[in-house]
Amino acid sequence: MCACSNRTFSPPTDHQRAKALGDTYQLNDNIRRAVTIGIDECFLPFPVPNEGDWVSIHEEPGQTVQEFEQTKRTVSHTKAPSLETICEFACHFFPGCELEILPQIDFTDFSKHFQTGKCINSYTKQPQYLASSIIGYLKKMKRRERKHDRQELFCIGVTMADIYSESDWNFVYGLASVGDGIGVYSFARLDPSFPDTETAGLCTNTERILVLKRAISVFVHEVIHLFGIAHCIYYLCLMNGAESEEEMDGQPLYLCPICLRKMYAALGKEKKQFNVIKMYTNILDACKRLHFKDEAAWYENRLKLLNIEAHH
Ligand SMILES: [Zn+2]
Ligand SMILES: [Zn+2]
Repeated sequence: MCACSNRTFSPPTDHQRAKALGDTYQLNDNIRRAVTIGIDECFLPFPVPNEGDWVSIHEEPGQTVQEFEQTKRTVSHTKAPSLETICEFACHFFPGCELEILPQIDFTDFSKHFQTGKCINSYTKQPQYLASSIIGYLKKMKRRERKHDRQELFCIGVTMADIYSESDWNFVYGLASVGDGIGVYSFARLDPSFPDTETAGLCTNTERILVLKRAISVFVHEVIHLFGIAHCIYYLCLMNGAESEEEMDGQPLYLCPICLRKMYAALGKEKKQFNVIKMYTNILDACKRLHFKDEAAWYENRLKLLNIEAHH
């Protein structure tokens, strides 16, 4: 071992260790006791390194709990709409189907195994990932999952990162492999502050509702595509194609009669669970909870009309 590669490792002082642990008063009793009581009795100091040991070769500045938490915050996007809320809402459109949220895939970890096609978009200066690589990953994962659940219809990946495809040099909102029942969709550009998402600070309540509504409508629209249902040109409808977020905002969160009938046909033997009144009632409740005022008014009015007809 060449002497010049040796570093002098200075062991942390008590003060540095306390700083690394951080304030513990906010922790619950259990974990607070585990990290504060009888420490010197049970934990040995970091060993003095020998020549050739890890810290003699590698610079290790140490990572405080606080630093760790800050890294985590940049990974899990602060403005991401809640996946639970999206799924809860979306599942009303697919009666008899279950939506299961699978574990989060860490892109940095993902890059160890796959070419993610990560690049920096020259317009936004933001990182972008290759959608087809993510689909490839999900395809492998879906095959694994299938052994346990032969009923799995689709596998959908959503991300707050921006994505692109080989055939599109700028970006895509999503990409699907309909034959495999796999789709990947990015919510990055649904945020009005994109691409300055990180620096724009917290969004207002109106913005939060808007991003959530866009995310739900993209999600439901795309899942309906995976059933093989194409874009709608018959009415103003959730299945109309949209070129921009502005066009998306003009679209309703309901299906026209033709797309509703297709959805009914798509569910095959689950048809007996397809109760439109129940579906509309569930969606109405969800719209009210999420403060989607116009949408709630539409469902309320539609239900009123259908219920009057039913009593005649
Ligand atoms: Zn579409
Ligand atoms: Zn339609």
